[in-house]
Amino acid sequence: MNMLESAQAMIARAAKKLDWNEAKQQTFLEPQAVHDFMIEVGDLKLQAYRVQHSDARGPFKGGVRFHPHVDKNEVQALATLMSIKTAAVNIPMGGGKGGVAFDPREHNTETVEQIARAYVRVLKDNIGPDIDVPAPDVNTDAKVIDWMVDEYERLTGDRSKASFTGKSIAMGGSLGRAEATGRGGMIALREYLTSEGIEPRGLKVAVQGMGNVGFYFAKLAEQELGVTIVAVANSKKTFYNDQGLNFKKREFSRQLAEELTHDGAKTTDSDDILSWNADILVLAALEDVISPQNQASVKADVVLELANGPISDDALLELEKRNATVIPDVIANAGGVIVSYLEWEQNKLGKSWSEEKVNKKLDEILSNAMKIVHIRAEREGCTLKEAAFIVALERIG
Ligand code: GLU
Repeated sequence: MNMLESAQAMIARAAKKLDWNEAKQQTFLEPQAVHDFMIEVGDLKLQAYRVQHSDARGPFKGGVRFHPHVDKNEVQALATLMSIKTAAVNIPMGGGKGGVAFDPREHNTETVEQIARAYVRVLKDNIGPDIDVPAPDVNTDAKVIDWMVDEYERLTGDRSKASFTGKSIAMGGSLGRAEATGRGGMIALREYLTSEGIEPRGLKVAVQGMGNVGFYFAKLAEQELGVTIVAVANSKKTFYNDQGLNFKKREFSRQLAEELTHDGAKTTDSDDILSWNADILVLAALEDVISPQNQASVKADVVLELANGPISDDALLELEKRNATVIPDVIANAGGVIVSYLEWEQNKLGKSWSEEKVNKKLDEILSNAMKIVHIRAEREGCTLKEAAFIVALERIG
């Protein structure tokens, strides 16, 4: 089951609970617009997309990823999940996603910049502060977004800065945006543990993914919840230390692997992280990581989906049957888009809020969403994922 099939299966189940008829369901599943185009930079010809899934609740909203596996199906799935996510946490935005199929690590900075700018040139009439507000995603960051904003301003004259989020602070970005997805994951986990009466201090946590999302989750979860990060993995290795990897003392760096090795962490295969002997498994890498074939090897009681769509729908049902709880992506990783929304609001108001204020608003929005979804799951006797989809569809519908 791929990510689009999983997302659609979840929507179908939630829609049935809400008595949506077939036609209403089909209308929602269909993206409102699909932009499918080529970008040419020098000798390079790259496939690119922007899928605008739904603007029923506000402008299309979602990241742009640069990754060799980007394809139309994946971008549509991610755009659909964004519509669910923005509704599940109740911010006035819709859902969209974009991508360019290439590996930025294989190109120099100038080429990546040209690709980012070319992407905006094609889409300029279809994006904008009240139409579609792109943001960073896998392999894109504030630097890439700054190039995009600059190109958009040059082409359209728009100076509001509200056309993109995830910008650098100098370009009108929000304090707290870089940590926001990790912080949101920590808040979702905290709320879940509180509602179950579980003391977080001393719980062992394994994290798949060493990018900015996995890193800030690990740091903030150690700092604010007192859990111990015992293992982390990138695509090459798992790094571990049963006494803890001491994330609370670390700063984000692309040299994290070297740093952990230097500090004495042992290593094993990358995939070993999925079956780590930990209380909580955090999936902060890519989609489609847990399938029905490998779900039985998951030992953690709680799985936090920090990536988009890391567990297929059929694997999730199996996990829950074995009494593992999945804290769903559309809530767990919504911290990024929530602070994007706060950034967009600051740009529209011409204001710049303190980090404390941004973090407080993020905490309020996300903890409230988590509480509502938790209560709904208990009432319906369903998984948190299904409850999140029900709450979201109810708002959209
Ligand atoms: N790419 C992030 C996500 O998947 C953030 C999107 C945004 O800020 O618009 O939620």
